Amino acid sequence: MLMEYSEILDKVETALEGEAHLDELSRKRQDPFKILISTILSARTRDANTREATETLFAKFNTPKKIAEANVEILEQLIYKSGFYKVKAARIKEVSQVLLDKYNGEVPDNFNELMSLPGVGAKTANCVLVYAFKIPAIPVDTHVHRISNRIGWVNTQNPEKTEKALKDLIPKNQWIRLNRIFVKFGQEICLPNNPKHEICPIEDICPKDFSMELALKKKREKT
Ligand code: SF4
Repeated sequence: MLMEYSEILDKVETALEGEAHLDELSRKRQDPFKILISTILSARTRDANTREATETLFAKFNTPKKIAEANVEILEQLIYKSGFYKVKAARIKEVSQVLLDKYNGEVPDNFNELMSLPGVGAKTANCVLVYAFKIPAIPVDTHVHRISNRIGWVNTQNPEKTEKALKDLIPKNQWIRLNRIFVKFGQEICLPNNPKHEICPIEDICPKDFSMELALKKKREKT
């Protein structure tokens, strides 16, 4: 390709402002447990809600032992802002208990052990590797999946395939920064609806391929 992947990421990064929540947590203090719990709380909610729920929770309970022993209804109240608070409260309590029982209260630093934790999928496991341990991985959330397809880096129908395709395509020394940059890019410029092409730093090289999203829309309309 004409422009290196690292150059494209540089261009996008330069145009962004502020930090996404996990990035902020990772920079302030690399607490793998907080990053794991925050990633679980981030499912289907906005960064601001995740941030508030995480900080409220950790002000009271900041270790696996404290969360495992906490009353689930109190946990629900503390993380209420993150949405789906009943499911998430049960999940973080369960994960905390497994960490205590199997990992001596520590968060494991490898993909397979992270994936063995209750309710932890590939995106969460990869987020913990990248943001807590600085281990090269590509967490594929909705922003990474959407943008990678729009800019023509991949042509995939689900995040699992996107992760694999990106790993085949992008040099390993760029993996760690990709999620951080694309999450913010997806929040500020390459929005899910009405992307701001007019201020996009890579507009000149973007094929604006929306085929993945159109196929998904059609599929939804049929069901
Ligand atoms: S040109 Fe538009 S679709 Fe392409 S990356 Fe920029 S905002 Fe997204």
